[in-house]
Amino acid sequence: RQPVDSPLYPLLEASAEYFRQALKQHPARRAAVDYLKGRGLTGVIARDFGLGFAPPGWDNLLKHLGGDSLQQKAMIDAGLLIENAENGKRYDRFRDRIMFPIRDSRGRVIAFGGRVLGDDKPKYLNSPETPVFHKGQELYGLYEARKYNRDLDEVLVVEGYMDVIALAQQGLRNAVATLGTATSEEHIKRLFRLVPNILFCFDGDMAGRKAAWRALEATLPNLQDGKRARFLFVPEGEDPDSLVRAEGEDAFRARMLQQAQPLADYFFQQLSEEADPRSLEGKAHLATLAAPLIEKIPGANLRALMRRRLGELTGLSGEAASEPASPRPPQP
Ligand code: ATP
Ligand code: MN
Ligand code: MN
Ligand code: MN
Repeated sequence: RQPVDSPLYPLLEASAEYFRQALKQHPARRAAVDYLKGRGLTGVIARDFGLGFAPPGWDNLLKHLGGDSLQQKAMIDAGLLIENAENGKRYDRFRDRIMFPIRDSRGRVIAFGGRVLGDDKPKYLNSPETPVFHKGQELYGLYEARKYNRDLDEVLVVEGYMDVIALAQQGLRNAVATLGTATSEEHIKRLFRLVPNILFCFDGDMAGRKAAWRALEATLPNLQDGKRARFLFVPEGEDPDSLVRAEGEDAFRARMLQQAQPLADYFFQQLSEEADPRSLEGKAHLATLAAPLIEKIPGANLRALMRRRLGELTGLSGEAASEPASPRPPQP
């Protein structure tokens, strides 16, 4: 998936080190430190995740690391510098932002996310695709979660950097984030190789609800018997960060125990909202929507149980309800 060796790795690591030092020492660091404190973060958690600060200005990293032109070219490849297409001038991609290093499963820095300190746009800036960073595959916080606990039983999948970090700060050290991309089958494959249980916990807004259904679709083809996925929906307007900070670890854990919905329950509840099984037409529609999705499940037992549940909801026999639509006969 990733090159074993690349000159970009040491550049990315040196940049992470520069950003970390800037958070500790740069004259402009005060605003960044205040921002992080204002969001409830301690120095310990900032250190655990290697948080840093890209100071204001166009050429801080360029001056620090961009020795000769060859080195600068590599920094462009690593997504650290941008080259102006018209005049060829090179400048720092990340300026005046809190820096979140993104690590691969071996702990190597492969990319960064950077957040503005206020409400400017764009709120987050991520590294572009590079030879060492492939967006739809990486999970922020996975290295840190496994470092903390080699023997993870469950992983929480959330949307953002701050969700991962706020949860960790509150003692929930097993969260990872998809970073603004939809949960992919690749993500799920990787997670199910490491843990038997996944708990999705996305933002309490329309985007979060859409992300949940996308995550379900990415999970179905990877659901072997023995693997389990659940969904925890947070109140409207909240996200895992705001919620765990507002109510604390114990209340959040209680939610996980009491409110996390098994994938199958969420599946039928969601589809029943789309196709109301109280009418025959709704039942027919429900079967049409649900059957092809159920057939994607590789776990024979769960697949059989979900077929049966669909049969109970629609009155169609398990087999009939699951029959994939036959192709239309050729028209004369
Ligand atoms: P915060 O709590 O810091 O305001 P958030 O994590 O709650 O941010 P969301 O708007 O919920 O932010 O977005 C979730 C995630 O999606 C972010 O953490 C980030 O990884 C990604 N994201 C959000 N906005 C952007 C953007 N403009 N460009 C790239 N990625 C983004
Ligand atoms: Mn959101
Ligand atoms: Mn959010
Ligand atoms: Mn947030």
